Amino acid sequence: MKTSVKRRYILVLFAKQEGRRCYCDRHVILSYRWRDQQRPDAATIEHLQRRADGGSDHPDNLALACKECNEGRQELDWLTYRSLKGGEIHEYVRSVDQGPRAAE
Ligand SMILES: [Zn+2]
Repeated sequence: MKTSVKRRYILVLFAKQEGRRCYCDRHVILSYRWRDQQRPDAATIEHLQRRADGGSDHPDNLALACKECNEGRQELDWLTYRSLKGGEIHEYVRSVDQGPRAAE
């Protein structure tokens, strides 16, 4: 997706979601500076149905997510992932997010 298109989508989605991320419900930051875009709370475009699964770039398939959530989702479907982020399935979150812990 071209950067100019991406930026326009981000603004539209930002307004639609009132600045909140689609998964963790916290606020994203909007910035075009490269350094800011590396922050975990940077706004990124998320494909609800992943492109790997045939999801399109149509706005209906897009949502604003923070970089951290976007990168953490992996192959989960977005609804499951949202439930995980909302803490609805704690056991599963622990096993997926952290794996076995050495000292606890
Ligand atoms: Zn997030």
